[in-house]
Amino acid sequence: SAVKSDPNCIFCKIIAGQIPSMKLYDSDKTYAFLDIGPIAPRHALVIPKYHGAKLHDIPDEHLAEILPVARKIALAAGAEDYNILQNNGRIAHQVVDHVHFHFIPKPSEKEGLG
Ligand code: 5GP
Ligand code: ZN
Repeated sequence: SAVKSDPNCIFCKIIAGQIPSMKLYDSDKTYAFLDIGPIAPRHALVIPKYHGAKLHDIPDEHLAEILPVARKIALAAGAEDYNILQNNGRIAHQVVDHVHFHFIPKPSEKEGLG
C-alpha cells in the first residue's frame, strides 16, 4: 500500500525535507536520522515513511525494513552493544506520534562514556 502522510506531523515533515535532519538512510518505505536530543553518541531513529502513531497502525509491509536498517546503522556505527527501543503511548514515554525505533549505542568502557 502507498505511503500515508500527516501534514501536521514533525516526522512526516522530516521525511518530506521540510524540517532538516541528519539523514542516515532513505528508501521508498524507510527513513533513518540522528536524534536531535541524543541520550548517547550516534543515537538514531528509524521510522516507516507511512504515518501512524503506534505500531499497530502501520501495515506489515511498511515495517519490513525497520530492523534490517537498524542493523545496518549499528554496523556502520561500529556499535558492539546497543538498545533498540520503541515506545507506544504517553504512559510508555512516547512523545512523537509517528512510529519510531530508537537505536541507542552503549559506549564501551574504553571510550570512557560507559
Ligand atoms: P519518544 O519519546 O516519542 O519515543 O522519542 C521521540 C524522540 O524524537 C526523542 O528522542 C527526541 O529527541 C526526538 N525528536 C523530537 N523532535 C525531533 C526533531 O525535530 N528532529 C530529530 N532529529 N529528532 C527529534
Ligand atoms: Zn508522521
